[in-house]
Amino acid sequence: MITIKNESQIEKMRKAGVLLHDVLEALRREIEPGVTTLHLDQLAEKLIRQAGAIPSFKGFEGFPFSICASVDDQVVHGFSNKKPLRKGQLLSVDCGCILDGWQSDSAFSVLVGGGSKEAQQLVDVTERCFWLGAQQAVAGNHLGDIGHAIQTYAESFGYGVIRDLCGHGIGTEMHEDPNVPNYGRAGRGVKLEAGMTIAIEPMISAGTWKVYQEDDGWTVVTRDGSLCSHYEHTLLITDGEPEILSYPGMKVSEVLR
Ligand code: MG
Ligand code: MG
Repeated sequence: MITIKNESQIEKMRKAGVLLHDVLEALRREIEPGVTTLHLDQLAEKLIRQAGAIPSFKGFEGFPFSICASVDDQVVHGFSNKKPLRKGQLLSVDCGCILDGWQSDSAFSVLVGGGSKEAQQLVDVTERCFWLGAQQAVAGNHLGDIGHAIQTYAESFGYGVIRDLCGHGIGTEMHEDPNVPNYGRAGRGVKLEAGMTIAIEPMISAGTWKVYQEDDGWTVVTRDGSLCSHYEHTLLITDGEPEILSYPGMKVSEVLR
């Protein structure tokens, strides 16, 4: 069932989004060669709890960390560890929090200390995929319009769009209806309505879209070992531009200008 949020619920999701944005920006500033993902994980948990919120990933279906830290060919759900990050690695950080019962979910990717032109292009295209998808996230459009926009742009670079995982509705639960795939046909699927809140999260591979899960039961990796990038925000559907709840003040039209 897809829920429509009322103004007071949306206001709570806004607050969760502001907190999550601040946490992710704090993590982003820490990322450099030599830093460990475990450090980032612990910092995220500390900042979230200090704000009176709960790290939503920790304990979710048994997941042991507050962030997903996925490096290079790891797509999502990577475990944090004590290995120092190396220059040029592609790190994706995904995090979620619950504030006053309401959820926010957001992810970004970055090249540790900078990296190759090819890898930077993958990161940039994945981010733009999000914004092109978000541009379609308007009341009256269909879910397929979002996936179609993401897929068309990613595939124009010869990249793979991960199919096994997708975006989702979000509210009091991290994963609510509907699923929000990063591929699809324009005009198909659920019709979007003002008050729906969804997370759009393209996962784009430099090679194949096919993935497998590692023995830890969580980490998802590209089958051909190619690099993968991830970018995500929680947003509110309106009759006009969506409101990017986990990127307060940022407008789709500004990014795509
Ligand atoms: Mg996420
Ligand atoms: Mg998500």
